[in-house]
Parts: sequence; structure tokens; C-alpha cells
Amino acid sequence: LVVLTDVNKHFGELHVLKDIDMTVRRGEVVVVIGPSGSGKSTLCRAINRLEPIDSGTISIDGKELPAEGKDLARLRADVGMVFQSFNLFAHKTILENVTLGPTKVRGLKGHEAKKQAMDLLERVGVANQAGKHPAQLSGGQQQRVAIARALAMRPKVMLFDEPTSALDPEMITEVLDVMTSLAREGMTMIVVTHEMGFARKAADRVIFMDAGQIVEEATPEEFFTNPRSERAKDFLSKLL
Ligand code: ATP
Ligand code: MG
Repeated sequence: LVVLTDVNKHFGELHVLKDIDMTVRRGEVVVVIGPSGSGKSTLCRAINRLEPIDSGTISIDGKELPAEGKDLARLRADVGMVFQSFNLFAHKTILENVTLGPTKVRGLKGHEAKKQAMDLLERVGVANQAGKHPAQLSGGQQQRVAIARALAMRPKVMLFDEPTSALDPEMITEVLDVMTSLAREGMTMIVVTHEMGFARKAADRVIFMDAGQIVEEATPEEFFTNPRSERAKDFLSKLL
């Protein structure tokens, strides 16, 4: 469903993505881990074309993502993205946050968008907050709204970039639970996270990045019990 071929990206002198080849099949949950600065966020942003790439190709569901233009907006709608900071529209209500994209980009009618939004807010457990503004919600609630907002666009794949790292410990579980149930329902997901419990439980595959390269790819069992590369061993030993 998501195919990256020989993707390279530089920031000036810095080579942040090096010959990245990566394929994510429909329904697959891939967890991306690696040290700070290894290029995980850049990879996510490149997949969504928030960040231009220097060479290589990225395609979603068989269609290559153009660098810009009308088609980009449409293809980008196929990719839902949830960031570390919740990025909700501060001056809109929770309900409006979830209805805005579908009415503007997907052309849904107001009442359809509202019904869908309420269903999604229900699913992530914050339907009772629909009339409030983001600042009135806890971080965990805001992040669940951000997930609902992304799902409202009916994406083919969801990207999560450290969705729980800005949250207090007691709120992490509620967000991970929503993500775990999404994974079980068959959503295709690419998740950058330091939550190894989630990786073990929900991932079909773990990708370990270091210095802009994919160093290792394995099932969670293989990766956590028997990492092949020294760099992965070193990274895991520091987590414990
Ligand atoms: P973290 O775990 O800290 O989030 P990361 O793996 O997500 O790290 P990236 O944010 O992708 O890493 O950054 C990879 C490298 O690119 C880093 O060295 C970073 O400083 C650099 N970088 C990221 N964004 C930019 C930018 N807009 N301009 C210049 N350099 C950048
Ligand atoms: Mg990052």
C-alpha cells in the first residue's frame, strides 16, 4: 500500500534519509524506532509530502505522490497523520475540528460530516466533549480527537509520529488503547514510538533506523529478543 523506493533527503550537508526502501502492506502495522535524529520524523513527513525529497519515489496505493498541486491534496487525504503535539485548531470546537476536513476536502455534507464525527468521537471515547474547545481537554483527550480528525478523512494509511511522547503517563495508555484497537480493526499504520509495549503487542514488523538508514527490519519477537545489528543491540540496551 505504501512503497518507498530509494528515497534520499538532505538538509544542507546533512544526509537525513539514505536510500530508504520500504514497503507497507495493506493492514500491516509497522513500528519505526531509532535514536533521536535518526530521521524518523523526516521519514513520516516525506511520506506525507510535508517534506520534499531529493530523489526516489513514494507511492500510496499504487499512485506516486506528486511534489505539489491538486493531486497532492487528494492523495495526501489518503494519509492520516498524528503528531506529537496535537495540532488541533484552537479556535474551533472538538466537533468542528473533526468535521472541517471532510466537508472541505472530501465534499461531505454538513449533517453527514457531523454524524461521522460523532461516531468517531464516540469510538475514541470523547463524544461528551464535542462542544468544547481543545484547550479545555486533557492532552490524552486532545490526542484522541486528533486521531478522530485524521480518521474522518477515511485515510488508507495512518502515520503516527511519537503520538504519546508529550503526554503524562496516565494518559499514554488511553491513546495507545485507541491505536491498538485501530490496528486490530485492520488499519494500515506506520507508528514512530518509544513505547516498546505497543510495538510488541501491536506491530507486525519493527523497522530500526539509525543515521538516516533502515538498519534492521524484523518481527517484534525477533527484534526484541535477538536483534542482529550492533546498533540495535546498543539502542535496546539503553532502553532497559
Ligand atoms: P527524534 O527522535 O528526536 O524525534 P527523529 O528520528 O525524528 O528524531 P528527525 O527529526 O527526522 O529525527 O531529524 C533527522 C535529522 O535531520 C536531525 O539531525 C535533525 O536535526 C535534522 N533536521 C530535521 N528537520 C530539519 C530541518 N527542517 N532543517 C534542518 N535539519 C533538520
Ligand atoms: Mg522525531
